[in-house]
Amino acid sequence: MNKPVSMLREFERRDAAEIGRDLHGFAASLYPICRSITGSGIRQTLAMIQDRIPLRIHEVATGTPVFDWRVPKEWNIRDAYMKAPCGGRVVDFQQCNLHVMHYSIPVHATLPLNEIRPHLFTIPDHPDWIPYRTAYYKEDWGFCLTHNQMLELEDGDYEVCIDSTLEDGHLTYGECYLAGRSSDEVLISCHACHPSLANDNLSGLAVATFLAEHFTLRDLRNSYRFLFIPGTIGAITWLAQNRETIGRVRHGLVLTCIGDAGGFHYKKSRRGNAEIDRAVACALRDCGESSEMLDFSPYGYDERQYCSPGFNLPVGCLMRSVWGTFPEYHTSADNLDFIHPEQLARSLRLCVSVFDVLEDNRSYLNQNPCCEPQLGKRNLYRSTGGDSIDDEIHARLWVLNLSDGEHSLLDIAERSGLPFATIHDAAELLCENGLLEEIAVRASTL
Ligand SMILES: [Zn+2]
Repeated sequence: MNKPVSMLREFERRDAAEIGRDLHGFAASLYPICRSITGSGIRQTLAMIQDRIPLRIHEVATGTPVFDWRVPKEWNIRDAYMKAPCGGRVVDFQQCNLHVMHYSIPVHATLPLNEIRPHLFTIPDHPDWIPYRTAYYKEDWGFCLTHNQMLELEDGDYEVCIDSTLEDGHLTYGECYLAGRSSDEVLISCHACHPSLANDNLSGLAVATFLAEHFTLRDLRNSYRFLFIPGTIGAITWLAQNRETIGRVRHGLVLTCIGDAGGFHYKKSRRGNAEIDRAVACALRDCGESSEMLDFSPYGYDERQYCSPGFNLPVGCLMRSVWGTFPEYHTSADNLDFIHPEQLARSLRLCVSVFDVLEDNRSYLNQNPCCEPQLGKRNLYRSTGGDSIDDEIHARLWVLNLSDGEHSLLDIAERSGLPFATIHDAAELLCENGLLEEIAVRASTL
């Protein structure tokens, strides 16, 4: 077993470029799969994640009531195309799985172009991109194509074929549980229901999978639960199935859109000042990249479900560019070129630093609180005189001063402006020298 202390330090010893290439390579291997909220695409995706981490696959039958919803019918697709009057495929699912509106009901007919037009979707502002469209909760069919493709369509009768099935089946999701010393859980959730879209879906899947790999076989304080689920209905289903044990979730993070070139954005939990919100803020402050904190709103990804008033779990959402705000969002331009190995690696590093805070945040009591202890005689102060002291010495003084039983290490990192890892190192050293003792109870801020 590895010591859990400072996973970040250990992570930093690894080759970041290689980690980035591996993350991008894993996303690339998942990219061609035609995922949807149910069906063989999400199963295939979960099987590939299962090759890397211990993943339990759950199947929930169509029609199962989950709060105000029901598990939908299962959708599978083999082929889809529009054939021109002269016979060639002008829109072809085999070339790109975005060409069909997801959850399209089966159709096979020959129709004049003007009757097909209401079923065609394009992006006039970006005439070379294919939009991503879905029809999950209404039975409909459609094709998505580039605007330039549509402009080239000639009048006449087209054969339209969507070889899909929409039948009773199952909703599939994956769950990786890594037991720690405490039953307190950290929930990491990402959606696995988008087809060939890289930033929105694959970046989160790749980073979450590698995080779970990084945690495997470690001696962890918290238990970690990774969910790979279809968006919205997957989170609702998981919450419905785990209602009795939901109180174990002490911290949570939804990961999405974390591979693009943008700076970080963190959407706070509904509570607004949960430990996860503060841990992410502290990690972002120290990560050396631009970042912005966003207040909670009841729209977005699955934090909406986790933060619904009946649960109000401390779950935030970590992104780079915010979903819906970048032009490539939900289009064929959200491809493997839109996500970058180095950005994925930095996102993974940030997550490790956040979970380092959750693992190592403790409270201590100064054993020598009446005036400063003499650090010099314990070799804990600089050996030569001078005007300035470095961060390590500052951290020791801050930890000694604020370890009065009222403050956790996260409190001290926030107040001192020093990196959490530096504060934690100082606390370890002061403990070894008998100047500090850990308080058994968790800090009141937890
Ligand atoms: Zn999306």
